[in-house]
Amino acid sequence: MTTETPAPARAFHCRCGVAYVPAAFARLEPVRVLDMADIAPLVVRWPEDTVVDVRACSGCAAPIARLARR
Ligand SMILES: [Zn+2]
Repeated sequence: MTTETPAPARAFHCRCGVAYVPAAFARLEPVRVLDMADIAPLVVRWPEDTVVDVRACSGCAAPIARLARR
């Protein structure tokens, strides 16, 4: 069952000024998802269930990223 109750989602902005709430970000064209195998060589510690979700901005097509849980 789906309800239209707005969740208190925090919007974030692309550098071109377009703002996205998480649901809107999820609808953008996916560029790639960086998982632990990609990130582990770059950081001391990375949570196993967290990925970096990279998507193309609908305003300027620049890649924008946010953390997501698997
Ligand atoms: Zn943009």
